[in-house]
Amino acid sequence: MVRTKEATMRHALTLEQRQALAAALRARHAAVREQLQQRSPGRSAAEQALEEREQDRDDTRQLASDREVEASYAGLEGRELRALEAALARVDDPDYGRCVDCGKVIPFGRLQVEPQALRCVGCATQRERSAG
Ligand SMILES: [Zn+2]
Repeated sequence: MVRTKEATMRHALTLEQRQALAAALRARHAAVREQLQQRSPGRSAAEQALEEREQDRDDTRQLASDREVEASYAGLEGRELRALEAALARVDDPDYGRCVDCGKVIPFGRLQVEPQALRCVGCATQRERSAG
């Protein structure tokens, strides 16, 4: 008997579920990337910072705190972008949708809210708690 690749892979999710989540991931990825581009159109944060510093020395203190806020946003969104890209790369893997810690299938409802989730709610909560 010839077993198909699909049958031996035993995906955690159905094809329909994976297709829905892949679409959600792509949409979310495009939205986050757009937000990042709007914040610094065509320039890196470092280039922008250098330019601002040279433009007006009196405002240096205020600009520094503005930049800190922007940098933290960019960092958060940057991390989300990377997580979304990683999830997009994994979406066809049999293990996509399975908790990386306990191996249980993550409920589809959770993945709809957070398609890049690596862990079930229980493991994610535990990890947050131990991380402090
Ligand atoms: Zn788990």
